[in-house]
Parts: sequence; structure tokens; C-alpha cells
Amino acid sequence: MKKEREHVIKTVEPGSIAEELELAPGDVLVSVNGQPVRDVLDYHYLINEEYLELLVRKPDGEEWELEIEKEYEDDLGIEFENGLMDDYRSCSNKCIFCFIDQLPEGMRDTLYFKDDDSRLSFLQGNYVTLTNMSDEDVERIITYHLEPINISFHTMNPELRCRMLHNRFAGEALKKADRFFEAGVAMNGQIVLCKGINDGRELEASIEKLSGYLPYLQSVSVVPVGLTSHREGLYPLEPFTKEDARGVLELIHRWQEKLYREHGTHFIHAGDEWYLLAEQEIPEAESYDGYLQLENGVGMVRLFREEIREELEKLRTPENPKKQNEPEKAGTPEYRNMPQASKEPRLVTIATGKLAAPILREAAEQIEEQVPEIRVQVIGIENRFFGERITVAGLLTGQDLKEQLSGRNLGEELLLTENMFRDGEDVFLDDMTAAELSGALQVPITIVKSDGKAFLEAVLGRGKDEQPERTGTGRRGKQPYEHRP
Ligand code: SF4
Repeated sequence: MKKEREHVIKTVEPGSIAEELELAPGDVLVSVNGQPVRDVLDYHYLINEEYLELLVRKPDGEEWELEIEKEYEDDLGIEFENGLMDDYRSCSNKCIFCFIDQLPEGMRDTLYFKDDDSRLSFLQGNYVTLTNMSDEDVERIITYHLEPINISFHTMNPELRCRMLHNRFAGEALKKADRFFEAGVAMNGQIVLCKGINDGRELEASIEKLSGYLPYLQSVSVVPVGLTSHREGLYPLEPFTKEDARGVLELIHRWQEKLYREHGTHFIHAGDEWYLLAEQEIPEAESYDGYLQLENGVGMVRLFREEIREELEKLRTPENPKKQNEPEKAGTPEYRNMPQASKEPRLVTIATGKLAAPILREAAEQIEEQVPEIRVQVIGIENRFFGERITVAGLLTGQDLKEQLSGRNLGEELLLTENMFRDGEDVFLDDMTAAELSGALQVPITIVKSDGKAFLEAVLGRGKDEQPERTGTGRRGKQPYEHRP
């Protein structure tokens, strides 16, 4: 018989209900209102009450029965050792485009784990294929009012989906999306586009079918398949060309216009990579419908540009009344108090992937133009570890950075965006740490959030206390192997 998993408390938030109850790391949560807790979904559902009875076992074996009266949605302030409060579910597919199959050998074991767990959809925004969800899972999501669920559709052609996911149940699994639609559960979708497979007419047919899930399906992103140079023995997939990208964009824009006319939403969105590959202008902010798929690299460039523009605008208008009303942080000078011209300009270097380099260069030029005391060097790093076709910053390794930055004048600081690092740690994909890289290059490294305000502040040498909080959610541009099941 399967032994019940113990829910051991890892941290107790200061000032929380749990702290008031004298709960501590190492305590075990046994039940809530007399019910065992299967996983994190159960936990969140069960604690959404005004009156709770918790049974907790202390490390010495003593059991505490605790009664709590609280506001309905108040959290208890507990984090458990296992964030999911259950075993992580691995995927039951063998997708022809799987990024994990294209990882080189010898990386740390956890990177090879293929998760496809609907609970991670709610916790971290992961996309799931629905292929290993039971009917009970579907009903639990509906009953618990959990949303949005993020679904990797890839195609709405059931037969093609079976082939792409290499799973004979993958076509049938689409019916679970019908169930979410009938129950009014909010969804987001994604399509990893593979050349000659689910593009062209197949893509058109998929968009048409997916639009039938409006308004509950809020958005669908289309991202190009990521191809590393480690594809020996895998399904032959070709990279998209500039012309292909233009064709994909033409199709998506045509559907956006139609759906906007009919439903008031653009619904289908092209990932930023398509525009950069096609060498076409990034759309205006309005067409991103509130940036619903930012973590999927949809609209990041537009939002970043907007943020830089706004921040530079603030710099330009020292008497901005809004700014004057904001409380000043002790020791944090306002922009209007920028350092006046010193003899030596401050030189900083930003290293990023080849994809984002031109965008950051453009921002750097704008900053330099406005703040002559600053010099910003942007270096696009080639991804030799995964192959040159991988151009996103999130998949750069410490080794590639070290090799390509060694011997260069990097100035006062090297700025790196947080998506290059593992959640919560300053460690690159190849296990090199930021400190090791800093030692090798003999330059201080600052890890920067991927938004325009943080970028500008880091370039100016400000706001270090506001840089990454190191949580797993809310960051932009997650590494593709995490979000492309
Ligand atoms: S792409 Fe995702 S769902 Fe497909 S095999 Fe890889 S991990 Fe599994």
C-alpha cells in the first residue's frame, strides 16, 4: 500500500497566522478539518474557509489540534518542503520536438525530468498536454475553481496530435479542454510550431477550432520549435527561415484581425522570436490584450521598450508631480538627482543571447543619449553549448559567457538577466555559479530582472535592493525547456 506523503513545513512566514500559532519548520501537517491533504490543490482548497481545524504533529511526536478563525481567503503563511505536496507527475508523451530530448548528456539529473503536471500549471504557469490527466483531476480543477489552466495544444487535429506527441491518446485528450470550456474554466493555450508539420493549413484549422473555446480560452501563443545541435537519432525537424516567419506572421495577423472584429480580442499571438526572425516591427502594445503570455516570450520586447520609454521620460521630467508624491526611499536618490558629469563615464556591460542583443542595444543607445555619464556595452553571446540556433538568453551557460567575455574590458559591472539562472539560485544551467563567473572574469556581476525599470536602474547603478526576489513565478522569459511541453 502506498505510504501517505508527509507534509513537512519548510518555512513559516513572519507575521503570518502560522507564526501566531507557533508552527515551525519541521512540523508536519496531518489534516485540515479532519481531511487528509493529498496535494497542494487540496491544501489550497481546504484552507479557503473562515473556520479551520488543523492537526499538526511536532517533531517530538506530540499532536496539536489548532482552531483558526480567519478571513475566507487568508493564507496561513506556510511553505512545505515539497512544493507540490505530492510526487511530481512525469509526462507520458514522446514529442517529436521535445527540448529535453535535445539536451546534451552530462547535465544535472533534474534537467532531464519531463514534467507534465496540471498542478504546476496553477503553481508556476507551466503548460500541460492533458494526456496524463484523469477524469478525477479534471473534475477537481472544476470543483476547486482553479484557473487559468495552461494547455499545450500544438494542433487541434487529433490524429496529427497523436503523431506529434507520439501518444495514441493525445487526440482523445483534447476532449478534456471541451470539459473545461463547458464548465467555464479559464484557459490559455500554446502551439509549438514545427515546420511542415502543424503549420500552414494545419495551423489555420487549429486556430479556427481553438477560437470556438472563446471566451474561456483567453489566448493562444504560437512559438517556433527550439532546435539544439543535439538531435542525433531524433525526428528530423527543420528550422524556420525568415520567409517562413513572415508567412506565419501573415497568417496570425489575418486571424487576429478577424477575431478582434468578431470577439474584441486578438486571441492568437505570435511569440517575439517570429518578429525578430522575420525582421519585422514588433506590434503595438494594444495587440497583446494585456500581455497574457509574457512568460512565453509573447510581447516581452514591446513591453520592455514601453517601460524603457516611460522610465526615460521620468528622467527627462524632473518635476513630474506623480514622482514627487511617491515616498522617497532612504538612501535611494531620485532619478532627477542623477550624478552630474564626472570625468570618467560609468561603463557597464550587458551580456545576453543573440536574440535580445539588438533590443538591448537599442535601449542602451537611448540611455546613453540621455545620460552621457553612462556607457553601456551590449554583447550578444553565441550559444555554443546548445548550438547556434538557440539564441534566447535563458539557455546560455556560464561556460559560454566565460569563454566569450574573457579578456574583454567589461567596465565596472557585468549585468546578466535573471532568466539565465535557476529559480532561487545564482547557478547557470551548466552548474557554474555567478560567483565563479565573476571570479573568472574579474568583474562584479549583478543579476537583473528582465523589465525596463530594473534594466535602467541596474545600468545607472541604482536600486540593487529591488533586483530579483528569486521566486518561481512572475518572471519573464522562462527557459524554454520549462514551458514547452
Ligand atoms: S515536450 Fe513536454 S510533454 Fe512532450 S515529451 Fe517533452 S516534456 Fe513531455
